[in-house]
Amino acid sequence: MHFRLAEEIINLSESKEWDFAKLEWSFEFAYYADELQKCLCGHYPIKNICVIKNQKNSFVTEVGNCCINKFLGIEDGNKIFSSIKKLKENIAASMSAEVIEYIYRKKGISDFDYKFYKSIYRRRIMSTKQCEIKKRINQQFLNFTSYETNSHFNKINLVLKWAETNTSFNTDFILSIKKTCRQKGRLTEKQLESLNKIIRDFKIK
Ligand SMILES: [Zn+2]
Repeated sequence: MHFRLAEEIINLSESKEWDFAKLEWSFEFAYYADELQKCLCGHYPIKNICVIKNQKNSFVTEVGNCCINKFLGIEDGNKIFSSIKKLKENIAASMSAEVIEYIYRKKGISDFDYKFYKSIYRRRIMSTKQCEIKKRINQQFLNFTSYETNSHFNKINLVLKWAETNTSFNTDFILSIKKTCRQKGRLTEKQLESLNKIIRDFKIK
């Protein structure tokens, strides 16, 4: 199982040695998938997904939280997932300092929101207005890390999973757009349209 992850990562890396190949990768972003997905290592199901990017060839791929910690030594994913969990339970709670920096760096919140959040950080007594703004920013973070926002990979994976049991379906197109998605981090409008059409036509759920 672990071997499989190494193999998949090496395929996408410049170096063909795992010890070096893994160093080419850095954390890009994390999201929470409502629909169950499979990790590169074969682990199923996973819900906490980390998108990682190769700094040498700009390839992008996804791994489950299971692998990001063990093999790639990237800590950020976990912090993001614990903030997602916390805010889902209580939208008035606070995201961690690392997560505020992360979401700001990713342009998920505005300059104003960033400064505001830091100014009220750890403050227990707030005005109703401040409390509302804080909740709005929290919600923005949840949206940013949600399934919908990251649905390109999700949709591709959905079709591929469906194709495992519908073997007459030719997956060439899907695999080719998955490659683009890995390289660019997202699909073009046209590719997305074709993908949506396949999902509709075959009633894939
Ligand atoms: Zn894994």
